[in-house]
Amino acid sequence: MYCGCKKDVPVTLYKTQNVIIVIVDGPRLSETWNLSTRQFIPHRASMLSKGVYCSQFYNNGTTSTNPGHTAICTGVYENLNNGGAEYPTYPSIFQYWLKTFERPKNEAWVIATKDKLEVLSDCKDVNWKGLYRPSTDCGNLGLGTGYREDVTTFISATTKLTTNHVRLALINFKQPDAAGHANDSTAYLQGILDTDNYIYQLWQQLQSDDFYKDRTTLIVTNDHGRHTPGYLDGFISHGDGCDGCRHIEFFAMGPDFKENYTTTTPYEQIDISLTIGELMGFAVPTSNGKVMRDIFRK
Ligand SMILES: [Zn+2]
Ligand SMILES: [Zn+2]
Repeated sequence: MYCGCKKDVPVTLYKTQNVIIVIVDGPRLSETWNLSTRQFIPHRASMLSKGVYCSQFYNNGTTSTNPGHTAICTGVYENLNNGGAEYPTYPSIFQYWLKTFERPKNEAWVIATKDKLEVLSDCKDVNWKGLYRPSTDCGNLGLGTGYREDVTTFISATTKLTTNHVRLALINFKQPDAAGHANDSTAYLQGILDTDNYIYQLWQQLQSDDFYKDRTTLIVTNDHGRHTPGYLDGFISHGDGCDGCRHIEFFAMGPDFKENYTTTTPYEQIDISLTIGELMGFAVPTSNGKVMRDIFRK
């Protein structure tokens, strides 16, 4: 049913054939889902009528950018260098998926505002290093070239979805994290609003493209939160084990998820890897997570 290159998609219990993960970098739940009005995430608040929200979702590892993204992609918490100087130890969902189905690398992408996230494209495991790597578009011109604007990442992502028919992607936006570190509360809240709008537009695009419509899962999560209000410097920083840093978002939509459903079952970042593997029909044997079964329709 696919283009004839290499193996076709597997027969699974699920309708999902493509997964897009959006990581909004470093908002605090007190300004997103736990704010009663949800006024800074208006699109996700209304999209919940067609999706699932996990109200007890955590980063139980190191609450900074590269470790958080790594836990999501590999299913293993690691206290990795946060500057891009260190690759994850274990293979990612990208490598497992590309190997399992022998897909071309232009169907799997890491698209990030932060250049240091290019390390998500490979790992240190000697049996995998340099193999089955996804395509990357990170920062200005790749690792070591600095951050760019989120709108550039958004345009890159929407273009690649259209032209490459990407099957598995991670998209990272630097806001609201960058504005938080700058102690700019107005820009911090605007960053939450802007990324909510990007997510909404991405979903609209997926539903207007026959390749994606009704067979694509969208997951929205965070790498980490920020310090609990009133604790240390509050929204400016993150990185420890306080509830504000650990307690983060998990929101998902797609053909296999319940609708208008909020689960209170505790889940965590490392569970995303196995949940995607379950949906797409590949194993992630090095993951320490579990499948988030109660968000599925059946
Ligand atoms: Zn940060
Ligand atoms: Zn904290």
